[in-house]
Amino acid sequence: AVTLRYVPGIGAVGGGAVLACFDDVTEREQAGQMRRDFVANVSHELRTPLTALIGFIETLRGPAREDAQARDRFLTIMEGEASRMNRLVGDLLSLNRVESEERVRPKQTVDLTGHLASTLKTLQPVAAARGVAMKLEAPEDAVSVTGDPDQLQQVFTNLVENAVKYGGDEVRVVLSRSERDPAVRAAAARVQVIDNGPGIDPVHLPRLTERFYRADSHRSREMGGTGLGLAIVKHIVNRHRGRLRVESELGQGSVFTVALPE
Ligand code: ADP
Repeated sequence: AVTLRYVPGIGAVGGGAVLACFDDVTEREQAGQMRRDFVANVSHELRTPLTALIGFIETLRGPAREDAQARDRFLTIMEGEASRMNRLVGDLLSLNRVESEERVRPKQTVDLTGHLASTLKTLQPVAAARGVAMKLEAPEDAVSVTGDPDQLQQVFTNLVENAVKYGGDEVRVVLSRSERDPAVRAAAARVQVIDNGPGIDPVHLPRLTERFYRADSHRSREMGGTGLGLAIVKHIVNRHRGRLRVESELGQGSVFTVALPE
């Protein structure tokens, strides 16, 4: 096997031919390391609720056996831990599916106006419970793009749900027909999810869409987050040949923008 190593300073060889700068071994090592990190992360995320479940089962068998009040309380916690595992497995399956489909661009017509309205309607009870007001601003006539309706709905759900979970008391969702966005050739539509929450420290922004990366780990876990939502969003947006942009500053809220081509 031939291993081509990148040699700094040597870009071209005689006759104008360009030397390919690959490094097979390093790439393979990196892929292997990423896979190992992923498996370690998944195992850790599953083990935490499992350990709690096992602990509560032991307590219910032993000391809490005759205590009806404690039993109810423990069962509620166990239900929460089991739901966390269920969400995690659901998100892992979603991520797996969108990753495997990433090269195939979906072809259905998606009415973004309708999908955003239904996303907000679905999340209305969650927002109301947290005292968050949500508002959709959209042009009079429907804005459509070519894509996968279920996947785009998942993008909007994840972004709006995050804005409700981590934001302040107001979430604005702004849909517009896009002017030519320099980042997306011939972008057709732009969806912005804007919150007035505490914002995200800019040091986190470059890594925010990595699997299991959390800017505020404690809050994410408290909110039942899996740490996979934005990774799923990124892959779906990639599949649609769109762009995801995050702008945030501490104390200034956050703006998540999805630009989608026709
Ligand atoms: P999670 O399941 O933890 O919500 P995500 O991938 O959806 O995972 O988001 C990654 C992290 O980005 C979150 O844990 C949170 O720290 C941060 N985050 C996402 N959206 C917002 C927002 N609107 N405001 C502040 N932080 C956010």
